[in-house]
This record gives sequence, structure tokens and C-alpha cells, in this order.
Amino acid sequence: MTTTPQSAAPIVVVGGGLAGLVAAETLVAKSRRRVVIVDPADRPGGVLQTVRRGEWLVERAADCFLAARPEGLALVDRLGLTDRLLPVSHSARRAMIWWDGRAVPVPAGFRLLAPGDREAIRTTPLLSAAGRDRLLAEPTVPSRDPAAGDESLESFAVRRLGREAFERLVQPLVAGIWTADPARLSMAAACPEFVRMEREHGSLTAGERARLEAARPGEGQPAPDEQVAGARYSQFVTLAEGMESLPKALWRRLGAAGVEWRRAAVDGLTRSADGYVLRTAGSSHVQPAAGVVVACPAPIAAPILGDVAPALAGELAAIEHAGSAVVCLGYDRAALEHPLAAAGVVVPAVAGRGCLAISFASAKFPGRAPGDGALIRVFLGGALDPGVALLPDEILVARATAEAEAILGARRPPRLVEIARWHGAMPQYHLGHVDRVRRIGELAAALPGVALAGNAYEGVGIPQVISTGIAAADAVAGVCG
Ligand SMILES: Cc1cc2nc3c(=O)[nH]c(=O)nc-3n(C[C@H](O)[C@H](O)[C@H](O)COP(=O)(O)OP(=O)(O)OC[C@H]3O[C@@H](n4cnc5c(N)ncnc54)[C@H](O)[C@@H]3O)c2cc1C
Repeated sequence: MTTTPQSAAPIVVVGGGLAGLVAAETLVAKSRRRVVIVDPADRPGGVLQTVRRGEWLVERAADCFLAARPEGLALVDRLGLTDRLLPVSHSARRAMIWWDGRAVPVPAGFRLLAPGDREAIRTTPLLSAAGRDRLLAEPTVPSRDPAAGDESLESFAVRRLGREAFERLVQPLVAGIWTADPARLSMAAACPEFVRMEREHGSLTAGERARLEAARPGEGQPAPDEQVAGARYSQFVTLAEGMESLPKALWRRLGAAGVEWRRAAVDGLTRSADGYVLRTAGSSHVQPAAGVVVACPAPIAAPILGDVAPALAGELAAIEHAGSAVVCLGYDRAALEHPLAAAGVVVPAVAGRGCLAISFASAKFPGRAPGDGALIRVFLGGALDPGVALLPDEILVARATAEAEAILGARRPPRLVEIARWHGAMPQYHLGHVDRVRRIGELAAALPGVALAGNAYEGVGIPQVISTGIAAADAVAGVCG
């Protein structure tokens, strides 16, 4: 057995996805110790993967991030990439929903769960007359007692907006983002803003009105982007060379600062006289560590921490994850009947189709397809359609192209196909998640010099993941110096 000398014990980051890389960046700034990232992958960045094929630029997972929270833009700024930021193209700042055999725009002003424009609801073809009336009656629905505890997305949305609006609007828009089962998705963890709206304003309609009032610009300032519907697409940005340019730039900086990348899968952690020792799979080399940031997915973190903190491991193992596949298809623009004047189309589970959504990648951002091409990304799987990531290539491609034919009127086969399989990549924030994360924080605090980071805890979006990386590194640097 070989060991690195204990006197030189570094701080080890387990997992070099975005959370781990940001943790390493913070440690370089705040700790005097060496930093080692241990990760089985041959490249930093985790799920952030961009592929260039000639003039096609294909995102295998995330394709943009929310700029309304500061962490993503601040990282881009630190890396000197601010001039590479791209907003969502103006013509793509709306979402469509597949209903009754066609793509229908989300009613203007409807934001995930909150109706912002009553007139648009009165005229939407997405709902029946009874469904529209029920949604318009939302302000009269009594508020739920906060003491009743956590509530699922389905229960909340059906109670406030009616079953039709839940099935045709909320489930595809919100549960789709989380690839979640809406009967299990926690409102407190996934959508706390809307729980607060109900509590503070008595209804989502009143809460959204108050939000819009507060956001209304003073004289001479630009009008807010109130016509956008679905998600607020005006608030999302990407990088011109793709999302992977973020971890690439971060890693260049970390490498230059002496951070080491050890290619191995950590499979255990034990205490030592002056810190910890990490075991790696298939290797007799053990890695001493003064402190550890565990930034790999929670189901992998659970067995790693099993020896030193079995109760913590149990809580981590209880966070379920869903798998998915993203099939990216590049077409001749002329081969698609649909105008693609939107960010994409989401598909309600009750529509019984074979995909969760189709994102119009080349409509959202420039530089994603050749001039005569159109790039789309078909999302398959999630908690309601498990096992998709295990399907063979030909089945995934057949399913995705069939969806493109039915939904976008694709008349010829694609020129480009890129398949991304994501096994258990999306944590499911089920009922009770907020309490579980609190317990995880308390149990982890009992392990001096160990902290957790990643998308399983405070949010799956890129800004939230960055924030967990910084907080975990701060905690470990505070203990280890
Ligand atoms: C298909 C898809 C689309 C998405 N779209 C968006 C989007 O548009 N906008 C947005 O904001 N977010 C999006 N997300 C979410 C966001 O990209 C992720 O939440 C975030 O990048 C996760 O970062 P992470 O560091 O927590 O985890 P990961 O990226 O999963 O990194 C974990 C790392 O741990 C490593 N690891 C695994 N096992 C071990 C082990 N035994 N030892 C050591 N290391 C190990 C892995 O190799 C990996 O590098 C999307 C996610 C997916 C899957």
C-alpha cells in the first residue's frame, strides 16, 4: 500500500463537477493547503458537456443558466468570460405546450404556477371553458394552513388552479424542469416562492400582480419583459462557446494554481489521527486529507460516508435520482414545418407522448447550427418514465425522431445525431426534502473538516450548485486552515 505523506495532507474535493471545481477555487483562495480533486472522469465539469461537430454546437446537458441569481454571473466575471455571455434570442422568449395535436403558446404572463394576465387565460385554447373558469377563480381559493407542512406540486396546483391547469400547464412546465413525479415533488424545496405568495398575498394571482408592480420600471426605463410566459426566458444566459467553457476556464485557472486532478473513484472514507483517509476503487493507494469536500452525487456520497457517519449516509441514500436522455438532432431548417419561434415545446404527461420536451437550441442561441440548419434537443425519461437512459441508441433515436416528426413536422431524417444518457443525474426533491437537507447539514457538521456540495441539496440550477460549492469550501477551510 502506498500513501501520500500525512504532513502534506491536502484538502481533497471528491468530484470535479461544477460544485467541486467551485469548491476548489474557493479553497485555493482561502486555505493554505494543497487542493486535490479526485474524480473518475477524464475531464472536469461533470454533466456540463459541450460537443462541437463542424458548425453544430451541441449541449449534452445544461444549455443556459438563470442570471437573476448572482452566483453564475459572478463566476463568469471572475473567469473573464463576461463578453462571451449570450441572452436568449428575443424571438425565443416564450414556451409552447403540446396540446390536442398542436403546439399552443403558454398563456401570456403565466409564470410556472402564477397567472399574471387574466385576459390571456380567458382566451387560451389550452383549457376548456370550465378549466379557464376554475383557473380564474384562483384568488377565491382559501390559503392552506402553513402548519399543515410540506405539500406536493400536484396537490398545491390542483388545489389552487384546478386539475386541468395542473395537468396541461403546471405539470409540463414545472415537473418537466425537475424531471419529477409531481405527486412527490416538494413545493417547499422546489417552488418556495409560490408557497410564500400564497401565504403572504392569499393567492398566486395577487402575489404575481404584486411582483409585477414591484418590478415595474420608473419613467424612462425599459419595460419589463412581461409578455414572456412559461419560464422567464429573458433571465437566462449561456456562453458563446457553450456551457462547458465554464468548467474548462475554471480548470485552467485551478491547474495553474497547482490544484491536482487525480483520476479515481473514491469509495470510502475513514478517520485518521489528524484528519481523514480516502480509499479509491481498484487501487491500493490511499489519499490522506486534512479536510474533504464531498461534491459527487448524493447516492455515491452515501456509501463513501457510510463508515464515518452511517446516519448521514442513510439520509443521503434516501434522496432518489431520476435518469433521462437528451437526443440532439440537427435538421435541414427546411425539413421542419414548425417555425421554431419559441424556446421549445413541453409535453404534458397526460398527452401520452414519448418525450418530456423539445428544446429549440438554435432558436434560443446563435451559433448552434449552420445557417441552413436547425438544432433541437429532445428530452426523454425522468421519474415518470424510468429506464430510458438504459435504452439502446437505435431505440432512443427512433423515439426522438418520431417525436420531432409528430410535434415539429420533421419531413426528412436528421443530419446530426448526438445522444446523451444521464443515469440518475437529476436529484428528486421529494416531500420532506427541506427537513432532510437540514438533518444532513446537522449530521455533516458533526464531522469536522467535511462538507457536502452539489445539486442534491439546495437546488439543481447552476447558480445554486455554485453556491453550495462555495459554502462547503468555506466550512472546510475554516476548520483546516
Ligand atoms: C440533462 C440535464 C439538463 C440540465 N439543464 C440545466 C439548465 O439548462 N440550466 C441549469 O441551470 N441546470 C441544468 N441542469 C442541472 C445542472 O447542470 C446540474 O445540477 C449541475 O451541473 C450539477 O453539478 P454537480 O457538480 O453538482 O454534479 P455533477 O456535474 O454530476 O458532477 C459530479 C462529479 O462527481 C464525479 N464522481 C462520480 N462518482 C465519483 C466518485 N466515486 N468519486 C469521485 N468523484 C465522483 C463525477 O465524475 C462528476 O464529475 C441540467 C442537468 C441535466 C442532467
